[in-house]
Amino acid sequence: MRDYTQRVASHRRLFAVDFRRESGYSSACPYFWNHHAHFQGHRRHLNYSLFDPDGELIEKSSEPIIYLHGGYDNIFPKVEEALGQKEEGDKVSVVMEPDEAFGEYDEELVRVEDTGKFPPSIKVGDQFEGVAEGSDDHETVIYTITDIAEGKVIADGNHPLAGIRLRFDCEVMEVRPASKEEIMHGHVHGAGGHHH
Ligand SMILES: [Zn+2]
Repeated sequence: MRDYTQRVASHRRLFAVDFRRESGYSSACPYFWNHHAHFQGHRRHLNYSLFDPDGELIEKSSEPIIYLHGGYDNIFPKVEEALGQKEEGDKVSVVMEPDEAFGEYDEELVRVEDTGKFPPSIKVGDQFEGVAEGSDDHETVIYTITDIAEGKVIADGNHPLAGIRLRFDCEVMEVRPASKEEIMHGHVHGAGGHHH
């Protein structure tokens, strides 16, 4: 691993590019395949709550999240599949095993580094982007600082929710057609979405 870049916003993002899953998923959405041309898609607005295996709330949406439905890899594939025919007002509850959510916990992603590689203000919980060790294509990993002691830092490249079975409960607040531009980009634009 080479340099670390501190992340400005330390809060984790569940659905944005930071933790985007591998693509390759093809949607079972009936709107996607039956009613429109191949590149059609639509926006779904969701309120959600995420629970750990003990039923404790991990987090919930403060305002609806918006994702582009139709196999664009904007949201967990298992959730997208469950939402395939859901309309406004419908609720869905999906239990995801770690490999369907944020992955199994990988010990090899835990690194011990000298504190000198980090800013003096470093503290437990800070997040840094770093290049994965042995990566040819400069693949970026987000490391969370989990311990600091005796001149060393433990940097954990696992997602904070890796290795955890999660329950994702959500309610469909709104379903709307996506714009041509959103479909071309594969993500939603504007409020709640991508700005550029
Ligand atoms: Zn875009």
